[in-house]
Amino acid sequence: MDDAARMYELQKVDLTWIKVAKRLQQLQQLLGESERLRAARGEVAQTEETLHTLRAAQRNAELESKSLAERISETETRLMSGTVRNPKELENLQLSLESLRRHREQVEEQAMTAMLQADQTAGELAERKDLLAEIESEWRSSQGNLIEEEIKLKHNFALLKRKREALAQALGTTLLERYETMRKRKGGIAVALIENGICAACHVKIPTGIVNGLRGGSNTLVLCPSCGRYLYSA
Ligand SMILES: [Zn+2]
Repeated sequence: MDDAARMYELQKVDLTWIKVAKRLQQLQQLLGESERLRAARGEVAQTEETLHTLRAAQRNAELESKSLAERISETETRLMSGTVRNPKELENLQLSLESLRRHREQVEEQAMTAMLQADQTAGELAERKDLLAEIESEWRSSQGNLIEEEIKLKHNFALLKRKREALAQALGTTLLERYETMRKRKGGIAVALIENGICAACHVKIPTGIVNGLRGGSNTLVLCPSCGRYLYSA
């Protein structure tokens, strides 16, 4: 392998390296919870909290209703017992009884409303949990594929690194520097392949003399007269 061939090989390694690095960076972003999964999880948590609040309101109203029922029953007993004879006192007891009954009706209504809302929320929660499970299982399988791809790419990356080191060493410091400088100057392509007598980078015909010279096997680097890149003839 001559210097042009080594440079060309090195360029192939570098171009693949860039692709692999880009995809690895993408994978870093793709790995981890998706926005959709986070949103679904958040909705389940929020619905659970709403349900909890509604059930608590229902329980409180039911307890209050029970205690009001006891007070109503006590008042009724006192009224019927005949121990209270004072008309004013009797009237007050009657008024208090009516007030307790009205209050209890309100509380019963609150309990009923809370129960209906809680039942509806429980239904919504079940639906949201199903959806979350579905999204989670999709996400898990996609993560599996991504993780596999990442492992493969990291392995590729290690191979490319070794190959690059070997090629760089074979080229030597001076040529490696020339390659790097050319690469920076020429949009990442330092070496151009000659295909059917044409520079593959700039598509201009290379004079026959140069093509033949390259075929002759002299280990000198030749530049494309048009784009100035190193030429390589396979
Ligand atoms: Zn060219």
